[in-house]
Amino acid sequence: MKFATKLIRNGNEIDKYTGALSIPIYQASTYDQRGVEGEALYEYSRSENPTREALEKTIAILENGTRGFAFSSGMAATSSVLALFSAGDHILICKDVYGGTYRAATQLFTRFGIESTLVDMTSKKEILNNIRENTKGIFLETPSNPLMKITDIKMVVEIAKRRHFITMLDNTFMSPYLQKPLDLGVDIVIHSATKFIGGHSDVLGGLVVVKDEILGKRIKFIQNSFGAVLGPQDCWLLLRGLKTLKIRMDYQQDSAMKLASFLQNLPAVEKVYYPGLENHAGREIHFAQASGAGAVLSFETKTNEAALEFLKKVEGVVAVSLGGVETIISYPTTMSHGSMPDAVKNDLGISKRLIRVSVGLEDTQDLMNDFSKALEAN
Ligand SMILES: *Cc1c(COP(=O)(O)O)cnc(C)c1O
Repeated sequence: MKFATKLIRNGNEIDKYTGALSIPIYQASTYDQRGVEGEALYEYSRSENPTREALEKTIAILENGTRGFAFSSGMAATSSVLALFSAGDHILICKDVYGGTYRAATQLFTRFGIESTLVDMTSKKEILNNIRENTKGIFLETPSNPLMKITDIKMVVEIAKRRHFITMLDNTFMSPYLQKPLDLGVDIVIHSATKFIGGHSDVLGGLVVVKDEILGKRIKFIQNSFGAVLGPQDCWLLLRGLKTLKIRMDYQQDSAMKLASFLQNLPAVEKVYYPGLENHAGREIHFAQASGAGAVLSFETKTNEAALEFLKKVEGVVAVSLGGVETIISYPTTMSHGSMPDAVKNDLGISKRLIRVSVGLEDTQDLMNDFSKALEAN
């Protein structure tokens, strides 16, 4: 079955009790246990909830995994996964990882004795050089945020498998439609479902998928113990958003490609970062492991002032987040990566001239007109 069909028909789209074509929002915290012989199907909603279960089973199928887990946000998903590690463990994290992941790893998990090193994952040598005796895991994000750096997933998996490291990959930018990390040997896939999966800028959520049964049990234990589960209403919104994931992504990606090419030729623009562009570093690796370039791009203006002027003049939404139906323009240096020290940002190339764009469902020509007007006279 092809992905488009799986989004609509995967065995979890019809309510088992009523036949409803939309899984009801089971707004219940607890379930009657009288007369239940053996183990009850549902007991308490932190452990199991039918709406959440439908979402968890759906995302597991879409990522070609065996178990899915829904969390209250992308960061709750990431933090719950990082809770697999123990005091004394060390993990490698890709250098331009999402700012919130950077903050949790370097300011929160360090307090529990979990060490991490930021590594340029495009370099095998750098990865090998940073492995320590206590290294237990590798955390990836590709394409990375906001410079769209590409990591060779298979190369990292090979390094990790030989040493029994757990590999984790934040697949938010690609969604399960464009990239399936479990198929490439990654152990754990993480999504901020707030972005493309929800798709409408109206819900926070996080999803995790694994293939391995033991790993699945360990994450279930953390989900139930730590308790950062997603509520039924939000699960329902994600189930609804998922149904149109492919058609949204197809249009948004096509539009992103056109906008990236257009921006490249504007005099005020210094450089465009988008894996769909011929000259993008790592483009070949990207297309060997993903079926599309996605709908997020970044560009640098020639001066700091031009970037600030653009943010003032552009008619599109200037906000954090991405993956919505509306084009969302953000300024990584103060927004998504605001929690990074300046020295780290400089090292990564996140300058005051860098603007990130998540392309939405507007008419592409209207976006081009808006962008060129806002960049004029700069
Ligand atoms: C937004 C985002 C997150 C965090 O997700 P929340 O739902 O905001 O907690 C993690 N990774 C990436 C790549 C993101 O864009």
